Amino acid sequence: MLSRRVLIIADIEGSSGCWNYAASLFFTREWVQACEAMTLDVQAVVQGLFDAGAEEVIIKDFHRTGYNLLPEHIDPRARVNSGYALGPIPGMGDPGRTDTVMFLGLHAASGTSGFLPHTMTSRLAEVQVNGRLVPEVALFASLLAPYGIRPVFFSGCPDACRQARQEVPGITTFEIDKAGGPDGFDPAAWRRRLAQTAVAALTNCHTRPLEGRGPLDVKVVFRDGPAMAKKIARRWRVQCQGDAVHFIADDMPALFEILSRICYLVPALLPVLPLALPLYNMKGRAGLAWVRHRLKKVA
Ligand SMILES: [Zn+2]
Repeated sequence: MLSRRVLIIADIEGSSGCWNYAASLFFTREWVQACEAMTLDVQAVVQGLFDAGAEEVIIKDFHRTGYNLLPEHIDPRARVNSGYALGPIPGMGDPGRTDTVMFLGLHAASGTSGFLPHTMTSRLAEVQVNGRLVPEVALFASLLAPYGIRPVFFSGCPDACRQARQEVPGITTFEIDKAGGPDGFDPAAWRRRLAQTAVAALTNCHTRPLEGRGPLDVKVVFRDGPAMAKKIARRWRVQCQGDAVHFIADDMPALFEILSRICYLVPALLPVLPLALPLYNMKGRAGLAWVRHRLKKVA
């Protein structure tokens, strides 16, 4: 069966223009190039999906501020959701009537090898669930499961792809190998194959929505060591042991919410989040305006 309603979750680390840590940051010269390449990657897939008969394509920009894609360079039939939303899906917002999800440009989990591996943020050295390291694809896919949305495609570095296949048996993957650096890499050719493989994955009927059922025994290790673990444990009333905090999460979506809080919030911010989020999104839009300005100067 061919899916016709596709959600794309787009990240920058595994896109074709991000070749170092600076390119994943905010307001760097490298980031400008990465935004441009990420947009071209996404557009190649979007074009392919519409050519193959897709009726609805929604793209969620899910890197850092959520403002990296340049929507003016993406097929206007697709909807680009930038920034962060409180709901209905935490962070992601409204998935429309999509029934299938494709992950573009993702990365491997914290504590594993691969290109710029991290889970939520590089400040987390490891996120373990029942003793296993968790990549973001498992968290994001499980947020979508209650909507019946099924993962079919994933692209990222070879380690990230391997982890995606472990988390979502049957998922189609497409690699970008950055071990050799950008010299000799042909982004246009890679992008063509990315789009072809993604379109072919529309007929992938081997996967199911990823139900991240719990309870989950969670351990989060902090890169900054015991002082940070202690601070977070006190702040969020969880158990602390050495450089890690421990807690039980009801399921994977609940774990995503807890990790979002631990990484980006303080308790005092929770009641004012509906007011704080638009301000944060404003910062993202300012960043993207700067990217456009830089790209015009180069052109
Ligand atoms: Zn990212």
